[in-house]
Order: sequence, then C-alpha cells, then structure tokens
Amino acid sequence: MKKLFVKTYGCQMNAYDSAKMADLLAPLGYEAADAPEGADMVILNTCHIREKAAEKVYSELGRLKTLKAKKARDGGRMVLAVAGCVAQAEGAEIVARAPVVDLVVGPQSYHRLPEMIARAAREQGHVLETDFPALEKFDSLAEPSATGISAFLTVQEGCDKFCTFCVVPYTRGAEQSRPPQAILREAEKLAEKGAREIVLLGQNVNAYDDPSSDDTRWSLAKLCEAIAKIEGIARIRYTTSHPRDMAGDLIAAHRDNPKLMPYLHLPVQSGSDAVLDAMNRQHSADDYRRLVDRIRTAQPDIALTSDFIVGFPGESDADFDATLKLVRDIGYATAFSFKYSKRPGTPASTMRKQIPEDVKAARLAALQKELLDQQHKFDDSQIGRTLPVLFEKTARDGGQIMGRTPYLQPVHVKADAGLIGQVRDVAITRRTANSLHGALA
Ligand code: SAM
Ligand code: SF4
Repeated sequence: MKKLFVKTYGCQMNAYDSAKMADLLAPLGYEAADAPEGADMVILNTCHIREKAAEKVYSELGRLKTLKAKKARDGGRMVLAVAGCVAQAEGAEIVARAPVVDLVVGPQSYHRLPEMIARAAREQGHVLETDFPALEKFDSLAEPSATGISAFLTVQEGCDKFCTFCVVPYTRGAEQSRPPQAILREAEKLAEKGAREIVLLGQNVNAYDDPSSDDTRWSLAKLCEAIAKIEGIARIRYTTSHPRDMAGDLIAAHRDNPKLMPYLHLPVQSGSDAVLDAMNRQHSADDYRRLVDRIRTAQPDIALTSDFIVGFPGESDADFDATLKLVRDIGYATAFSFKYSKRPGTPASTMRKQIPEDVKAARLAALQKELLDQQHKFDDSQIGRTLPVLFEKTARDGGQIMGRTPYLQPVHVKADAGLIGQVRDVAITRRTANSLHGALA
C-alpha cells in the first residue's frame, strides 16, 4: 500500500471533500497516513476564505519540498497535489511559483483525480499499481475462439481515453503500439502455420501509431495494406475501434483494400449527448452519425456493430430514447449491450443519480430486443445472396463445416472438411437463431 496524507484547511465542505478524495484514491493503492513524512502522496486541500490562505499554502509547500527531496534520495517518489479553492483560483500561479507541485486540482475536478494521477505517473515513466478488481467481461477484449484459420495478432495495448466508467486506462496503462516490423514478422509466421485470416487486436486498435521516430510512420491502414500482401492471407479484420480515431486513410482502406473485411466494430455506448459527455467519450451522437455516413459512403456494403451501456448515472428516459433512436438510425448487424456497473475508483462510480437496478434491467431488455430484431433483419437480408465464406472448422452436425461471411456471420454448409482454410462461394438459403445455412455455389 502507498501512503496518502491529506491536509485540510478551512470549512466542513473541505473536510468532506478530503474524505472523498481519499476514497477515490483507495483503489489506486493509497491508504491514509497521519503525517506527511515518507508519504507517497500529499494533498493540500486549501481554502480561500481565511486571510493569507495562499501564503500559508506556499510556506507549507516549502516544508514539503524538503520531505519530497528526502523521499527521492531514499529511492521513492512523493506526488504533491494542491486541491481546493486556492487551486481553483490560482492554479497557473501555483505551478509557476512552486514547481515542486505535481498536480493542481479544483473542486470541480475531484472525480478526475485518479485520471490525473495515472497521467502524472505515466509522464514520469512510472507504472501505477492498482487494486482495481479484475472483471474480465469488461477489461479484456472480446476474443472469438481461435481456430488457427483465423488468428489474433495484438498490435496495440492500453488506453489514454479515460471514459469515466472504464478501468482499462488504469489497469492496462498508456496507449502503446508495437513496431510494424515485429507485427509483420508475426503475421508471416501465422500465415506459414496456416492462418488465412488475421484479426488485429488492441483496446484502441485504430489509434495504432508506429512508435518509430522516422517520418514514414505507419497507420493501421498502412499495416493492413502490408499484411494484405503476405502470401496466404485472404482476410483482415481489426477490433476494437474508438470513433475518435477513425482516420480518413482507414475509412478509405475499407473501399480500396479488398482483403479488409466489410465489418466494423465501432462502440458508441449511448445516443444521448448528455450521457456521452458525462462518459467523457469526446464525441456527440451526431459526430458518430456523420462518421458512419462517411464510412458508408466509402463502403456502402459494411456491417456495423457496437457496444452500449444502459443506466449510466443520470441517464433519463429521454436519454435512453435517444440511444434507441440512434440504434434505429444506424442499423446494426449485431451489438453488445451492458447494464452500467460501478467500477470502484472510476469517476462514474461516485457520480450522483445512480440508476436503480430495475430501471437498468428494463432498458437493457428494450435495447436488446431492438438489437436482436436488427440482427435478424441483417441476417435475413443475406438469404438468396451468394457470399464468399472462409471455412474454419467442422461443425457439430455431422457432415457440415462452419465458416464465416465477410460480415462475420457463421455459416453452416454440408461440404468436405478438405475445404477448411479455403474461401468458397456459398448460396445462403436460410437462417436459424444465430447462424446462416447454405450450399456451395
Ligand atoms: N476500448 C473499447 C471502446 O472504447 O469501446 C472498449 C473496451 S471495454 C473493455 C468493452 C466494453 O465494455 C465497452 O465498450 C463498454 O460498453 C463495456 N464496459 C466497460 N466498462 C463498463 C462498466 N463499468 N459498466 C458497463 N459496461 C462497461
Ligand atoms: Fe475504456 Fe475503451 Fe473508453 Fe479506453 S476508450 S477508457 S478502453 S471504454
């Protein structure tokens, strides 16, 4: 555990805020200490009401500077933060006058403290050790079962977006991309071992940015272009993307790179601007609609999927209706949807107006009904078409093999297992609950 010392000046309100900050920092591994000596983090929670308040803060900072230096000599690190009304009023001046201060945080931004500490630690090359409880459902990427025919390749890890509901930026650290040369070598090896499809993985895969320092930096689109040239590779996919990182060259690649499948998982989370703002998604519902328009202009025949959270703190009936409206406007091939669940230490977990469980459940049921209807409609629209299917494995029903359409839908076909690993045209004849059926064309 790391030691946290909070010194509170002034009113009752400040004492309350100090306790709240301590609660917010507990999941980052900080526990309360009663003296600043040796502390890993010291917060001065200041008050402007008293006379000469700012001067008192500066003289306290002078004392703390000595303790911080001692901690550094002992091989440790003391993070120094100034919070409260003085921070609000004189933030820039504090930083200028007392460079020993690492963070200045005003009363409106306490909920962002975990984010600020994570960012400060990253900037100084430190890793934050948190005790965020692991909940695999949300923290890990959805990984469809690997068959060998379709192989996963991690190109990027971590996240710098700090959506207020999400633990990933704390638990997985900063966004980091792997060098393209290493990725291409691995893709070649996978192809040699029989992979015909490569799925590029990353928490924010479309934020992929070649870490090399030369000026011919690689984007995700360029990576897909190079992978498309590898012998044996017939298909490329990538997941998960953030709407803010959907670059023009990647959109164009969906038109120009025939091996890049017409399928895009583009989570939006909500259709309400108020909720998107509270989630810190940094895009509006209309930004997302416009982005989808651009993608469909480049590639009209693309299957879109998404993630949704219902019952985010403060979500009203009207906000939820805006989500349903967005779903109807866009038209998804399929999507994941979740009830908002509190993740201790994330800003949203301490927001007021948490939504009752029964309301969340009702909204989730309504959303999932709409999404399932859309999925069936999308699947039905393939009946009568002839689609290229990449066969992956034998199916459980005797004599059948299973493959996938370009839109990732599973297809069952009566055919010889020798076709596994090949792309063949299949005439789609019918749909069952979760898959399509057809015959070799
Ligand atoms: N990086 C991706 C993005 O920006 O959409 C997704 C990563 S996250 C691991 C996968 C999904 O889990 C999110 O899109 C979100 O819908 C859901 N999720 C994450 N935290 C959640 C929470 N606290 N409650 C409910 N759903 C959550
Ligand atoms: Fe979590 Fe994705 Fe938001 Fe990053 S962009 S904070 S991984 S939901």
